Order: sequence, then C-alpha cells, then structure tokens
Amino acid sequence: MKEPSFLDAASLAALPRGPGVYIFRGDGKLPIYIGKSVDIRSRVLAHLRAEDEAEMMSQSRRVDFIETAGEIGALLLESHLIKTLNPLYNIRLRRLRNLCSIQLHDQAGAWVPEIVTGKDLGLGQVEGLYGLFSSRHAAQAKLRELADHHNLCQGLLGLEKLSARGCFGLQVKTCLGACVGKEERLAHDQRLLSALEDMKVHAWPFAGAIDLVEESQGWVQRHRLENWRYLGTWCSKSAQLPVTLQQSFDLDTYKILVKPIMLGTARLESVN
Ligand SMILES: [Zn+2]
Repeated sequence: MKEPSFLDAASLAALPRGPGVYIFRGDGKLPIYIGKSVDIRSRVLAHLRAEDEAEMMSQSRRVDFIETAGEIGALLLESHLIKTLNPLYNIRLRRLRNLCSIQLHDQAGAWVPEIVTGKDLGLGQVEGLYGLFSSRHAAQAKLRELADHHNLCQGLLGLEKLSARGCFGLQVKTCLGACVGKEERLAHDQRLLSALEDMKVHAWPFAGAIDLVEESQGWVQRHRLENWRYLGTWCSKSAQLPVTLQQSFDLDTYKILVKPIMLGTARLESVN
C-alpha cells in the first residue's frame, strides 16, 4: 500500500508488531488520536486504510508508540494517556467525579436499595454494591428499569412515596403487591437480588497492593494495583513507562482489571 504523504514515513516504518499504545500527532500541541493494540503496526495501518477516518488521518503528521509487555499494560496506559493528554479525536473518557452505585441495606430483614457515591464510601472496597453510574439520576433510572422488568415495587425500592393503597405499579399491575402484603416481601427481595447480581461491583479481593505481571521474551512489566487503582508500572527495560498515581476509584481502570483479576487469568504477585 502507498503510504500517505502527510505522515512521516520513518515513524511508520518504525512501528513494531507487538502490544502497546500508539499516538497520532499533528501540528498542534494536543495529540490527534491515541489507541492501543496487541499489534501496533497492523492497527495503525488499519487506521490509514479506514475511509471514515480520512479526515483524522489527514491532520496527522507522525505516529509515536510505546510498547508494553502485554495487553493489560496497553489498556492501562491507553486509558491513562487519553485522560492526561486529551487527544482531539478520542471519544472523551471523562473522569467521572460523582460515580454512584446501588447499595443494599438490610432493614429488619428486608432489602432496601440506597444510592451511594464514592464520597460516601470506598467504591470497589466494600461488598454489597451493584452497578456504577455517572449520576444519581442514572442509578435511579436503572432501578426503575429493573422494577419494570422484574415486577418489583417502586415504592419499596424508594423510587416513589407509598400510600396505604400501595404503589402506582400495583394499579397498572407491574408490581406484584409486596407493598400491600399481596406478595411476600422475601419473594420480592429475592427477585431484586437476582436482578442486581450481574451488576455486582467486586470488592478488591486482596489485603493491600498487588502487582499484575506481564512478560514478553524476557521483558517484564509489573503494574502495581490497589483497590482497583492503577498506581504505576515498573519495567525491566531501561525505558520507563509514564507512572501514574490514581488517587481515587476510576471506572475505566476497574473495567480493564475486573475480569483478569476475578477470573484469575492474570499473573498476580504480592508486593514486598
Ligand atoms: Zn408496590
């Protein structure tokens, strides 16, 4: 394929076939676009061929890359760089400042959901949290949706005021009547629990920090993690990766880490 003349040919020729992050740079201060791949070279070439990315590519002058020893390192680095460098064409990964979750409280043997924020408690550090939402409103909307799908009572879920005649859903037959004793509260709450189960937010399963280790042909990277926060990367090559220190729970980092850690597919080593 003919290389586009606007991109520095030497920077294209240097692209490796391994995992890592690539950065399209233009004439301005902000990067054009940041991405990650297990094969940097083929992914960058795919960008150049994509017709719907022609405008973005026409603004690019060179492409830089940072190799990583594995895929998780590439994901962590990509997320970190997008948030700190603000590239023009990435869909903005916002730092969600007011992440909310649904916490179940045991009130006299019944489960009552409450919407909590990262300011109320350590997200990812306590059990009994379900779902991560960008706002209180989004968490309430999810509860309403679950109520509709699972015939739950919006009154008992705290979404509407209950009168002696029960909730509004009772009249339109979406509530099976737990609010007026027509359905047993236990049965209602079990439906609530199973509806929430898929959204469970896992509590950090270790006492403190751990290293997630990735290795490629003798090259080792150790990503230090604590309470789902990415603290930084130690690298056996002299070229150090940028080290970040996440002060608070970050949704994107949680999403990157939760499967490899909870399924035990990543190599984890205790620190010290
Ligand atoms: Zn009801």
